[in-house]
Amino acid sequence: MSTFDAIVVGLGAMGSATAYQLAKRGARVLGIDQFSPPHDMGSSHGDTRITRLGVGEGLHYTPLVMRSHEIWRALEAQTGETLLTANGGLIISSRGHVAFTHVADFFDNTLSAAKKFGIAHEILNAGEIRKRFPLFKVRDSEIGYYEPGAGFLRPEKCIRVQLDLARKLGADIRTNERLISFEASRDSVQVTTDRGAYDSAKLVLAVGPWLSEVLGERFARHFKIYRQTLFWFETRDSIAPFLPERFPVFIWALPENAKGIYGFPAIDGPRGGVKIASEQYEATATPQSSERSVSSRESEEMYVNLVAPHIESIGNKCLKAASCLYTVTADAGFVIDRHPDHESVLIASPCSGHGFKHSAAIGEALTQWALDGKTDFDLSAFGLARFT
Ligand SMILES: Cc1cc2nc3c(=O)[nH]c(=O)nc-3n(C[C@H](O)[C@H](O)[C@H](O)COP(=O)(O)OP(=O)(O)OC[C@H]3O[C@@H](n4cnc5c(N)ncnc54)[C@H](O)[C@@H]3O)c2cc1C
Repeated sequence: MSTFDAIVVGLGAMGSATAYQLAKRGARVLGIDQFSPPHDMGSSHGDTRITRLGVGEGLHYTPLVMRSHEIWRALEAQTGETLLTANGGLIISSRGHVAFTHVADFFDNTLSAAKKFGIAHEILNAGEIRKRFPLFKVRDSEIGYYEPGAGFLRPEKCIRVQLDLARKLGADIRTNERLISFEASRDSVQVTTDRGAYDSAKLVLAVGPWLSEVLGERFARHFKIYRQTLFWFETRDSIAPFLPERFPVFIWALPENAKGIYGFPAIDGPRGGVKIASEQYEATATPQSSERSVSSRESEEMYVNLVAPHIESIGNKCLKAASCLYTVTADAGFVIDRHPDHESVLIASPCSGHGFKHSAAIGEALTQWALDGKTDFDLSAFGLARFT
């Protein structure tokens, strides 16, 4: 048996941030992952994640993403890596029936958050959107929220950097090792993996889409898994209008459409393409059953139905595609809480398709919770009890 202050199981977005923050505080930390993160089996791959400070999912999120930006900037200064590119973000919507984005009134909530927290932004009418960002084929009725401080993160690099630093700070990071079970008492936890057994004061479960499997049947109904697909399409003529200086990250609640789209600038040269995706909530999956490859029929449908009608100058050639898993709760909010039966076990399930931007601060919050018993962040909206 080994003794740790905290064991973090799952070293994706949330677990890598937590392991790093714990190690930075000088804790004896063990990080365990069944694969070797960053990997492409969970929720944290695909080159880019949107980050935005006016968070339409609810006012309680903005403090987390603001703190996360500070942490990423500090990590960049420390390591010389580029993690966050603030090239601006555009959210397009209109009155009437538009595609659903995570919660009701996403556009209006975004604006409320920006106003409440003093986030720089502009509201653009359709003509102004066309002038500033001519590749978007907006209708006259559409409006835009433009946030210059929004942009994208490099998820795989964020994970790698935080795990590397955690190791350097003395964390014991074990990959290709799988949690089998845990037993908890009031002030300690015994963890059994396929390689050994460990003893710790605290256990943080940051296992992403595997949470239901790890917590068991009783909790499974709170977390639905949906396979999502990502596509990188070629640019038809020049790549120049798609470069980050000219093309923002975007979320587009398409009018009269059940599905919206979101996307990114071209960041990896002409052969890297432009990443555009949609969301689906019709078919649930499990990490075991989910088809990881993406068919050519899926990319053709994406192009014909959701890309060509809305964005200029993108060709139909799909250069790359990937699938990724959302873990979704009933209100599309996060679960960050103590295990209802075990004080010493913390559960972190911040996904529903919008968690990455908050992950650096969530790692800090979980660290404070694990080591100090309380945190500077207000996590009260993320309790599991709201579903029972
Ligand atoms: C397609 C897609 C697009 C997204 N877009 C955005 C976006 O634009 N902006 C944004 O902010 N967020 C976005 N998100 C959400 C964001 O990516 C997730 O919130 C975040 O990646 C979740 O990280 P995680 O650490 O919870 O899960 P993961 O990164 O999946 O990590 C879980 C880890 O736990 C490990 N694990 C599981 N079970 C065990 C076990 N028994 N033993 C050991 N290890 C185990 C896994 O191997 C894995 O490494 C998107 C998500 C997807 C899928």
